[in-house]
Amino acid sequence: MTGLIVGVESTAHTLSIGFVDEEGKLFSSESALFKPEEGGIHPREAADHHSVVAPALISSLLAREDFNQDDIVAVSFSQGPGLGPCLRIGASVARSLSSYWKSPLIGVNHCVAHIEVGRNQTGCEDPVLLYASGGNTQVIARSGDRYRVIGETLDIGIGNMLDKFARNHGIPFPGGPAVEKLSKKWIESSVNNPELLALPYGVHGTDLAFSGLLTSAILHSKKLPLEQVCYSLQEHAFSSCIEVAERAMAHTGKSELLLGGGVACNGRLREMSSIMCEERGGQSFWPEKQYCIDNGTMIAELGRREFQSGRTTELDNSAIDPTLRTDSSTIAWT
Ligand code: AMP
Ligand code: MG
Repeated sequence: MTGLIVGVESTAHTLSIGFVDEEGKLFSSESALFKPEEGGIHPREAADHHSVVAPALISSLLAREDFNQDDIVAVSFSQGPGLGPCLRIGASVARSLSSYWKSPLIGVNHCVAHIEVGRNQTGCEDPVLLYASGGNTQVIARSGDRYRVIGETLDIGIGNMLDKFARNHGIPFPGGPAVEKLSKKWIESSVNNPELLALPYGVHGTDLAFSGLLTSAILHSKKLPLEQVCYSLQEHAFSSCIEVAERAMAHTGKSELLLGGGVACNGRLREMSSIMCEERGGQSFWPEKQYCIDNGTMIAELGRREFQSGRTTELDNSAIDPTLRTDSSTIAWT
């Protein structure tokens, strides 16, 4: 058994602790999801949730047969981007574990972790990443020692848009899976010939926008079947992401598309990415669902990459950075 790197994730709704070994074998995370009783995610309430569940998650981790504290070589955590109060809890948990286990601390970039866990799981080498999550929607590709943002949402994240639409109909967080189910119902009830509503389509060069689409979908759903609106909402939102991803592949000359983030669990988004890649002679990839949604294992995997490149974080430099950008972090590995 090689050494273990532990990763702590706490950027938004989920506190999660996972680990990898030094050779890059991934182990499932111990996770707890904050579900607000009503409304959206209030950062302070989510942070309170994380601090309450942290001891139980650590106990579950310690009780696992595949985990041995004596093997730990480093502890990594999401330093940003994310909700400040939530990030602070994860950073405190990581600092405590690092000090208790006398192993180095490594603050990592959450967005980059989605890429690295995807590369590890799927074997793709130099992909364009379509990062579609609750708060983030970006199309990213590596150039030199950075992952560059080629395009991104100009307003809200695609997952937040789906969650807000669902919430408007009394469907609790996370709304994305419910929108997917309702959309499938529309396809089935239309004997696979579903009628598509024309909704706003927010592609601006390589950037995206979802708030106009959201408003229009909410207005339509007052008069038309919810299933039809969900179907049309998904078709428009996902097509816009795939269009920008294809543009990024064309401009960079890369032939791999990797999906990441919670919305990458969606079957229709996966299908669209396969069709687009096949049509241009490329290949599409996505990690298992447990590694699409926010998880500690992906933070551990990026921690491993950083650790093996010789980077650790001194306590004085371990403050969180809620507005950290994907392209702020140097990538020292291939
Ligand atoms: P993340 O922020 O990466 O953990 O992802 C959470 C987001 O993923 C939430 O906005 C969810 O609604 C969304 N999500 C999860 N599963 C699905 C799905 N099957 N289809 C669409 N969105 C999803
Ligand atoms: Mg995420």
